[in-house]
Amino acid sequence: MSERIRPGAPEPDAGGSGHVLVTGASRGIGRAVALRLAAAGFDVTGCYAGRADDAAQTEKAVADLGVRTCFAACDVGDLAAVTALVTDAEERLGPLTAVVNNAGITRDATTVLMAERDWDAVLRTNLTGTWNVCRTVGYRFLKRRRGAMVNISSVAGVYGHAGQSNYAAAKAGIIGLTRSLAKEIAPYGLRANVVAPGFIETEMTAGLPDRLRVKARESIPLRRFGTPDDVAGLVAFLLSADASYITGQVFQVDGGIVL
Ligand code: NAP
Repeated sequence: MSERIRPGAPEPDAGGSGHVLVTGASRGIGRAVALRLAAAGFDVTGCYAGRADDAAQTEKAVADLGVRTCFAACDVGDLAAVTALVTDAEERLGPLTAVVNNAGITRDATTVLMAERDWDAVLRTNLTGTWNVCRTVGYRFLKRRRGAMVNISSVAGVYGHAGQSNYAAAKAGIIGLTRSLAKEIAPYGLRANVVAPGFIETEMTAGLPDRLRVKARESIPLRRFGTPDDVAGLVAFLLSADASYITGQVFQVDGGIVL
C-alpha cells in the first residue's frame, strides 16, 4: 500500500464494458444494475449478504446474457472480506474496471428511540461498506489508471428523512465520501459519482405501511414509485464512455420528489 502512484494519462477507453463489481447484487436495485451492465457487455462480480437462492437466480440471469459472472457472499462492512472478494474476483474474471456500491440496509426509528446497534449496523453496511470497497478497488484503479465508480446514496441523504437519521447520515456520508474521492482520483483519469434514488419498488420499501405509501406517492410529482430499472439505466450511463467527463456529481432518480 505504500507504493507511490503518480498522476498520469488514463487508458484511452475509460468507460464502456469491462469487469464490474456490484455489491448487493442478489435482488432489488443491485440485481437490475447487474443485469443492465451485463447487457452492456460487462463481466459481473456480484456480492450479497446471505440470500444465496436470490443470488443464484441473479447470477444465472446474468450468465444467460452471455457474459462471465461470479456471485459470492461478502459482508461489505468487513474490510478483510472485501479485500478477499476483490482479489478472488480479479483472479477469476480479470482486472475490475468499474464498481457499483449498492449494498444497503435500513433499521428505522426516530433518533431518540433508536437502538445503538441499529445506528451502528446501518452506518457499518451503508457507509463503511462503501468506503471499504472504494478503498480496496480504488487502489487497483489508480495503479492501472482505469476505472469508474458509482455509489448509491438516497434522497434521504440529501434532504433527511424522519425516522431514518441513521440511514440519512450514512447516505449523506456517501455523498461526502464520493465527492472527496472524485477529487483525489480525477488527476489519474478516474471518476466517481453518486446516484440518489427516491422511493423505488423493492423489498426495502415493500414493508411501508399503506398510509405512508399513499403519503409518499402524493409527494412524488410523477405519482409513482420508481422501478429498479429506472436506477439501473442511469448507473449504466455513468459507467459508459458517454459519461467520461462527468465526475463528483449527485444524480437523483426520484420522480421529482422534494421531501
Ligand atoms: P434490497 O432489495 O433490500 O437489497 C439489498 C441488497 O443489499 C441485497 O442484495 C442484500 O443481500 C445486500 N446487502 C445487505 N447488507 C449487505 C452487506 N452487509 N454486505 C453485502 N451485501 C449486503 O435493497 P434495494 O432497495 O435494492 O436498495 C439497494 C440500494 O439502494 C441500497 O443502498 C439502498 O439504501 C438504496 N436505496 C434504495 C431505495 C428504495 O426505495 N428501494 C431508495 C433509495 C436508496 P441479501 O439479498 O443477501 O440480503
